[in-house]
Amino acid sequence: MTTAAEHYRAYTPAPFTRDERDRVTVLFGGLHWRAERVVQAVFENVGQRARVLPAATREDLITGRELADIGQCCPTSFTTGNLVNFLRSEARQAGAAEVAKRYVYLTAGACGACRFGQYHQSYELALRNSGFEAFRMFLLAQDRLDQGDVKGGGLQIDLPFSLGAFWAILVTDALQDLEYQVRPYEVVPGATERVVRDCVDHLVEVFRHRPARRTRWGAVAWHLTTGYFVRALRDVRRRFDAIEVDRLRVKPVVKITGEFYLQTVEGDANYNIHRWLEAEAAEVYPAAVAVWLDYWMRWYVQGFEDLLGVDRWARPKIVAIRGLQRVFRWTYNGFRAALGDVPHALPDQYELRDLAAPFFHSRLSGGEGDMLVGKALWAHVHRKAHMICELSPYSCMPNTMSIGAMAAAVGRHPDLLYAPLEIKGDAEVHALSRCQMILTEAKKRAQREYEQALARTGQTTADVRAYLDAHPAMRRATYRVLPADVAGTAARLVLDVARRRGRRMEEAR
Ligand code: SF4
Repeated sequence: MTTAAEHYRAYTPAPFTRDERDRVTVLFGGLHWRAERVVQAVFENVGQRARVLPAATREDLITGRELADIGQCCPTSFTTGNLVNFLRSEARQAGAAEVAKRYVYLTAGACGACRFGQYHQSYELALRNSGFEAFRMFLLAQDRLDQGDVKGGGLQIDLPFSLGAFWAILVTDALQDLEYQVRPYEVVPGATERVVRDCVDHLVEVFRHRPARRTRWGAVAWHLTTGYFVRALRDVRRRFDAIEVDRLRVKPVVKITGEFYLQTVEGDANYNIHRWLEAEAAEVYPAAVAVWLDYWMRWYVQGFEDLLGVDRWARPKIVAIRGLQRVFRWTYNGFRAALGDVPHALPDQYELRDLAAPFFHSRLSGGEGDMLVGKALWAHVHRKAHMICELSPYSCMPNTMSIGAMAAAVGRHPDLLYAPLEIKGDAEVHALSRCQMILTEAKKRAQREYEQALARTGQTTADVRAYLDAHPAMRRATYRVLPADVAGTAARLVLDVARRRGRRMEEAR
C-alpha cells in the first residue's frame, strides 16, 4: 500500500489573543534560576502571567529522546522533554485540552548553523507525539528586540519588556558572579545560599514594580539614566556584607565555558557541574549570559565589517553598534560597582575574536561561534582561571568544531588545563572522572601559586591571617581582593595584604 507524501509545513500556532491574557500563562525557561525568577517578574510587570518551567531532569532527557528526533543535540532533548513532562503533569489534573487553553510556551530561536533554529520543530514533533497538538508555542527570534503584537496580541514582546528582560539578566549575572566568589569561602556553611535566595526575592519585587514608561524612547532613556537598579543592587551588597569569608582556603579557579544552555543552567542537564566542582573544593567562574549578548552585538558588527566598501551605511552602523556595546558594558559595570566591583568584568569581544582567530574563523556561526576558543585562551593568558571546563553537548556541531580547534590551541599553549566534557545526560561518571583528572592538576597549580605568593612577599600564612584578623572588613564577602598576576583567590589575597603592608614583592621564580 502506498501513502501520499505529506509536504513540509512550518509550524504555525493558533493565535493567542489579547483578551486571553488574564487567563493564559506564558511558560519559559533555559536560564539560571536567578535570571528566570527575575524575568518572570518582568513579565508580571507588563501585565503578563508567566511561569518558569521546572529545572530539567534526566527523566526529561529520556522523554525528549522518546518523543522527538533522537539525533537532536542534548540540550534540545532536555528542553523538549521538560516542556512535555510539565504539560503532562498539568494534564493529569485538568486534561490536555484545558492545558492547551491555560498555557503558551515562549522559546528563543534563530536561523543559523546549529539546531537552535529547529528547536521549535522538535517541540512540535514532541507535542504531536504526546497528544498536545493544540498547544501554542511562540518563537522569539534573537535578532528582534521588539516584536510588537506576536500572533494575536496576547503576547506583547515590546521594547519596554525587552529592556526589562535584559536588565534582569545583567543584574542576576552580576549577582551570580558574586555568589560563586563567596560560597567556596563562607565561614558558616549555607550562609551564601540563604542570602542569595533573599536577594533574588528582593530583586523580584524590584522588577515587578519597575516604573512603567509610556513610549519606547521613554523606556530607553529611563533604563539608561535611572539609579533604580543600582540602588537595588546596593541593597544586595548590604545583605552580602553580613557573610564572613575565609579566602585563605587555597582553591583552583575553574572557568565554565561551553554551549549556551549547558553552561547557563544548573542541574541535571549539566551533571550539576557547578555544585560538583564546589564540592570538589574548586571556585567556579560561571558563564555570564551577558557575554553572549555582547557576542551577539559583535556578530552584527562583523556582518557590517564585511560590507565596508560595498554599503555606504556599513561604517555608521558599525559605529552605532559599537556604541551600543559600550553602553551595555557601562551598564553592567555600574551593576558590578554597586556590588563592590567583586563580580568579574566582561571580556572584550574583539580581544576574544583576536585570540581565537588563529584557530577558529570569527564568521563561523552557530552556538558560541569562536567564543569557546577565545574565552579559554582569554582566561588562560590573563590568569583568570587555573583550568577551563568546557561543557560540550552530545551531537552538537558547533561544539565539536570548537573542540577540534582547541586541539591546536592547546598545542600552542601546552600549559592550558582544558577539560572538554561531553554532556549526554546519562554518562555522568565518565564526564566527571575526566574533569577530576584535570582538576587534580589545577589544585596543584593553585597550591604552588599560593606558596610562591607567600615567598614573593616574605610572609607566612600566619602573618596574613593575623593581618586579616586585625582588618575585619577584608573578611567580608563584598571585600574586593585586588587583581594580580595570579589566578587563585588565596594567592591574590596574599599579594593584596602584602601591598597593604608595604612589602616588596619578588618576582615568582
Ligand atoms: S549550539 Fe549545539 S547544543 Fe546548542 S542548540 Fe546548537 S547544536 Fe544544539
